[in-house]
Amino acid sequence: MTSSTVSQARAGEGRGAALLDHLGDLRDVADDLELRVDEPMSRHTTLRLGGPADLWARPRRISALQRILGRAHARAIPVTFVGSGTNLLVRDRGVRGIVVNLGHLSEVSRPDPEGAPGRIEVEAGASTGKLLKAALAWELGGIEFLGGVPGSVGGGLVMNAGTYLGEFTDVVTEVRSLGRDGALIRRDHDACGFRYRASDLPPDEIVIGASLGLRPRPRAEIEADVQGLRARRREREPTGVSNSGSTFKNPPGDYAGRLIEAAGLKGTRVAGAVVSPKHANWLVVERRQACTAADLLALVELVRAKVAEVHGVTLDLELKIIGE
Ligand SMILES: Cc1cc2nc3c(=O)[nH]c(=O)nc-3n(C[C@H](O)[C@H](O)[C@H](O)COP(=O)(O)OP(=O)(O)OC[C@H]3O[C@@H](n4cnc5c(N)ncnc54)[C@H](O)[C@@H]3O)c2cc1C
Repeated sequence: MTSSTVSQARAGEGRGAALLDHLGDLRDVADDLELRVDEPMSRHTTLRLGGPADLWARPRRISALQRILGRAHARAIPVTFVGSGTNLLVRDRGVRGIVVNLGHLSEVSRPDPEGAPGRIEVEAGASTGKLLKAALAWELGGIEFLGGVPGSVGGGLVMNAGTYLGEFTDVVTEVRSLGRDGALIRRDHDACGFRYRASDLPPDEIVIGASLGLRPRPRAEIEADVQGLRARRREREPTGVSNSGSTFKNPPGDYAGRLIEAAGLKGTRVAGAVVSPKHANWLVVERRQACTAADLLALVELVRAKVAEVHGVTLDLELKIIGE
């Protein structure tokens, strides 16, 4: 952030400018932090819905992240962490406090190709695509499951993202995060509590990176798995609409999509939000101008109530909801 960005921000209207003043002098992090005021969250989620974040912060260095966290902690300013926003619904009035995104911290490295050829270090802001590409270049297998799964590594770890080919829990050896005060916390695999589309990584910590253990595998084999997965996805998944992938988790022994379809809900809509006619577990936005976060939430509740009535099953959300 340059000093001119700060003064422009201060001159702005809205809550962000007041919060920026409350944070105090930021000159010590000026070069290492991208900061935006009253930033529309619709720009940062694949659903393209939601109101503004008071402050949107993207650190270029971990030290800047630690300083911002420390300062927010000392002033009791709420902080929310988001990745690529591919599994996120932001409510219409936006997010109070600071939203932190690690998009600038996205290194993927292989620190010891001779001694530990399968070890990869990855920063949380790296996209799953970047990680997969690096593994392919080094001919390391184990994360083929990421084929076509969008998002950041940080979001993927928190969500234990995956497909029928595997999930993050299969390859993680350590996760590193920062606590609210900016202190570093390391967790080995077992302390992360990975399970189906969830983990025990605490919501008040920001995941900054992980160590992964992969295994040598010929490039052609990796590519075949990834392409097979992508082809299967192309057949089954809606395209050309804003979405967040699957909206609900599959209940034990069944599929949310099957239950929703069998309840006759395919094509059901609230304003511009619709239960995809192609895949019933994808609640998508067909017409953005005609859709608010409240409309999508109303559709979520409608689907949940109908599935409970017809099947006696309460669906849990995979989608994460933030904001006011
Ligand atoms: C087209 C499409 C297809 C998809 N297919 C799949 C699939 O096959 N399998 C699957 O598992 N998912 C799938 N998803 C959902 C989504 O891609 C995953 O959940 C992904 O891992 C979310 O990553 P993200 O960076 O976008 O996280 P976000 O959506 O930004 O955030 C998700 C959660 O993680 C938290 N979070 C994010 N980053 C951090 C961090 N650094 N530190 C702490 N908390 C953090 C957020 O607070 C939030 O609670 C799909 C989504 C789309 C749009």
